[in-house]
Amino acid sequence: MKRVSIKIRWFTSLLLMAFIMSTVLAVPPPAQASSKDKVALAKGTVYATNMYIIRSGKPGPVVMIVGGVHGNEPAGYIAAGRMINTEIKKGTLIVLPRANNRAVEHKVRYYKGHGDLNRDFPTSKYGSADGTLAKAIWSMVKKYDVDYLMDMHEGYNYAKLQSSSSVGQSLIYYPTGYFRSTVSSIVYKLNSNISTNYREFSLLRYPARGSLSRAAGQYLGCKSFIFETCTKQTLSTRLYYQQKAAKTLLSKLNML
Ligand SMILES: [Zn+2]
Repeated sequence: MKRVSIKIRWFTSLLLMAFIMSTVLAVPPPAQASSKDKVALAKGTVYATNMYIIRSGKPGPVVMIVGGVHGNEPAGYIAAGRMINTEIKKGTLIVLPRANNRAVEHKVRYYKGHGDLNRDFPTSKYGSADGTLAKAIWSMVKKYDVDYLMDMHEGYNYAKLQSSSSVGQSLIYYPTGYFRSTVSSIVYKLNSNISTNYREFSLLRYPARGSLSRAAGQYLGCKSFIFETCTKQTLSTRLYYQQKAAKTLLSKLNML
């Protein structure tokens, strides 16, 4: 009898040990790793350009930052290029720094043989984008189900000056949902350090029809805006504003 009870006790403790070991050694479900990928858009064509996908590995918004839609607006494509190195703590950041790569290389608004890229996006709900490049960009916005889109541009004069039709120093958004409070706070933050009235950023509505920002806002429900600096200021100031606006957006979304 004693022998049997020792055997039972031995067996019980063995089971207990096995249970403890299995708990200690249990492998937690694999967390999604953070990653950075480079994807070639319009690969193999004259429009080929790189897009970067920075994944935090944690759920959160998908934000897309675009530069170089117009090749003669350097603060846009340089600032976008710098965003590639942003570290995010949640969601996904997609950066397309040189959307119209050939125009950027030639420092022109758009390169010969191709019209204004910012008029090539759909102008109706089921419409399609025009041309290889706009088609490639538009398919990415849809594929990654972009929640927020910032398109970096520049104007030649200040939007606040009545004499000018330029939209330099402005944020032009597509009003959807409660997006106004987000874009207002970006403009407010930038203006808090600007002492000259006409140099302040204006908050404007409705990006032009056919623009990436307008199409994404109107037809995909994306919270999108065009951000314009003014080329009358130094490049370093313009880069500061572009990056500050992008980072304020990411901070508002708790991604930084
Ligand atoms: Zn532009």
